[in-house]
Amino acid sequence: MDFNVTDELAAHREKARRWADEHLDPAWAEYERTTGTHHIAELHRLLADQGWLGAGWPTEYGGTDNDAALAQAIFEEIRARHVLVEGWGATSLIANTLLHVGTEEQKELFIGGALRGETVIALGYTEPDSGSDVAAAKTRAVRDGDEWIINGQKMFTSTAQKSTHVFLLTRTSTDKPKHRGLTMFIVPLDDPGVSIQPIHTLGGQRTNATFYTDVRVPDSARIGGVDEGWPVMKVALVYERRGGGGGGSATARLLDEVAAWSQSTSREDGSSVFSDATVQQRLARAAIDAEVARLLALRVRWVQESGGLPGVEGSSAKLFGTESAQRAHWDLLDIIGDHAVLRREASSAPLGAAVEEAFRAGVVTTIYGGASEIMREIVAERTLGLPRTRA
Ligand SMILES: Cc1cc2nc3c(=O)[nH]c(=O)nc-3n(C[C@H](O)[C@H](O)[C@H](O)COP(=O)(O)OP(=O)(O)OC[C@H]3O[C@@H](n4cnc5c(N)ncnc54)[C@H](O)[C@@H]3O)c2cc1C
Repeated sequence: MDFNVTDELAAHREKARRWADEHLDPAWAEYERTTGTHHIAELHRLLADQGWLGAGWPTEYGGTDNDAALAQAIFEEIRARHVLVEGWGATSLIANTLLHVGTEEQKELFIGGALRGETVIALGYTEPDSGSDVAAAKTRAVRDGDEWIINGQKMFTSTAQKSTHVFLLTRTSTDKPKHRGLTMFIVPLDDPGVSIQPIHTLGGQRTNATFYTDVRVPDSARIGGVDEGWPVMKVALVYERRGGGGGGSATARLLDEVAAWSQSTSREDGSSVFSDATVQQRLARAAIDAEVARLLALRVRWVQESGGLPGVEGSSAKLFGTESAQRAHWDLLDIIGDHAVLRREASSAPLGAAVEEAFRAGVVTTIYGGASEIMREIVAERTLGLPRTRA
């Protein structure tokens, strides 16, 4: 395993910072924070036009010869400046899935469109009655000649309000075991039968309920075989979880900020916050966890770069990365004290409310992309060989 991978990236960080200084509009982070919409069309177009979306992708589908490591550093820098580019996050995971399961035509159409910045794809799996048990989806797709007619409802279709398409999990057979009656489609969201309603979350993110009424798609929009959607979903879920809850990088940055704050801030008795041994212990424990999260994320990357699909490795990394970040947020709130819960709008919010915002944003991370309990079950079954607990 090559631990130098982040050092390679370090060589690009200065260039990435300069790119961000030149191109990022500070208003974008504020727009994302206040609206909860984590996709900026103007930035997306710029990244596509300059070839950064296509960096490292196969040239036959529109990949560019831009340096992939520099592209990764640029995306990290953009996220570090609180512009979360989640439209690209979902789109690139579907484009990766299509590399495995798409037809040549679909790869050219959807991956090509994605790399040109024209196609933005949301994830349509969860329904009002099926989240963790995603294979229980009821949204129906019924064949009508060369077309399919889709009816149903999805919950938490994040970024749908800015997307052109949704990667939709549907039920095509009701007389088979639930995992064997599913089919995936890529469905245009501008169809008159689609409606999108906002859902605002505790973390500030806007997600959506999406409704599908007699939406017609051609058979060419079907990804994978009829009733063979589950193997397709499994690939997509691997790509969703491989991020490993951010690999501890956001937490590590926050820890540095709070450590510096604790050294320069005094308690009423005049001693620095940092001089308290329990503060040092909590910072150290959180820093160790962030490092473990980084290593677990590197393991995911290593499996992928060795040509594998990091299934259980991604689940472990997501579980540890997201839960350890939540533990760190609690520690940091305690260290700062009662002012830590002030919102950014309060002028006396410590560190511009960075901990308060990270705390709220972190709550959903152990739910979306597969809840922690489900990640534990995957690790228990596939790594420890324990019996399956779900039907
Ligand atoms: C902010 C946000 C964004 C999201 N974005 C998307 C998106 O873009 N696309 C999309 O399709 N979905 C999205 N989701 C949905 C997300 O994937 C689901 O919320 C998640 O899978 C959990 O499903 P659920 O909400 O139905 O909860 P449930 O499945 O009802 O779970 C409720 C609780 O029961 C536990 N539980 C469930 N089953 C088991 C079990 N077998 N063993 C032990 N415990 C169990 C869960 O861990 C959880 O604690 C998003 C969710 C959020 C909060």
